[in-house]
Amino acid sequence: MENMNKVTVLGVDFDNKSMSEFQNTFIERLNNRQSTFIVTANPEIVMVAQDDPDFMATIKRADYVTADGIGIVKAGKMLHTPLKERVAGFDLFMWFLNVAEKRGSRVYLIGAQPEVITCVREKLTLDYPSIELVGARDGYFKEDLNEIANEIAATEPEMVFVALGFPRQEQLIDLMRINGVPAMMMGVGGSFDVLAGAAKRAPKLMQDLHLEWFYRLIKNPSRFKRMLVLPKFVLEVKKRGDGE
Ligand code: UDP
Repeated sequence: MENMNKVTVLGVDFDNKSMSEFQNTFIERLNNRQSTFIVTANPEIVMVAQDDPDFMATIKRADYVTADGIGIVKAGKMLHTPLKERVAGFDLFMWFLNVAEKRGSRVYLIGAQPEVITCVREKLTLDYPSIELVGARDGYFKEDLNEIANEIAATEPEMVFVALGFPRQEQLIDLMRINGVPAMMMGVGGSFDVLAGAAKRAPKLMQDLHLEWFYRLIKNPSRFKRMLVLPKFVLEVKKRGDGE
């Protein structure tokens, strides 16, 4: 590979960093108030990007892409370009909240159902009293993404977490990144639901055995259709290699 710091899986360039290496990098960027767009990409995202050139272009504009999901780590191995480790979006999000608490950062949250975001706001007020929550709104709005992006930027946040599901969460962050909003910005998928207790993560043992996907499936069988993309992903990696 031409660049050892990246691992390319079906055209998506993953940063080959461990969790602690990412954390050091992000702290530095927070200190410098650098506009930062993080994508935590799983096999589903990689597969959707195959058929959606706009989404692929958005991912390519991200500053960092982490391997969210054991499927990506396995693909790295299959391609003989192993990734250091899985860096789950939820784990990063929780780490960022702790950092924000220590620094007393200005945080903006957007996404999920109104009841969920209300619950997350209450939880933050209680568990992270030093965080300055400059905005918390649900993800079912009528405004277009440009308006929302401007509204968020106007609150001068230092961290923005967007839980709209992909590709919309990445599209919203991309707009702010293009405008150079000086914040740490990350799409967090279903993380607000997990934080609010509306959805649960798998027990630690199942996470360690890389069976979190199975736990999600038995808790929520409607995910089955979405999971059918996984075998397709493996086949595609075998067939096309890194997609170059
Ligand atoms: N969501 C939203 N607005 C929408 C559609 C979805 O805020 O128009 C939220 C939804 O409530 C959920 C999150 O986006 O909290 C996406 O969750 P999902 O589990 O689909 O995300 P994943 O982690 O699988 O990307």
